[in-house]
Amino acid sequence: MLMTCAHCGREFSATNLNRKYCCNSCNVLASYARNGRPGERAAELAEAKKQLAAEAKKLAATRKKAITIKDLLLT
Ligand SMILES: [Zn+2]
Repeated sequence: MLMTCAHCGREFSATNLNRKYCCNSCNVLASYARNGRPGERAAELAEAKKQLAAEAKKLAATRKKAITIKDLLLT
């Protein structure tokens, strides 16, 4: 049965009707397009983690500052 690759649009003969792509590399590239490359995703997550850690640090710093005795006496 002749089918059209969902990634590159090339026609290919599929023996299995569940196949969407003409070859494995189209399958892989299409999944990268959907979810991002594994490396990119990891870098993105690492960056997000870094930002969260920085935010948490900032928050902890302001919280700490808010409960010093000096601040309590001043307010
Ligand atoms: Zn293809």
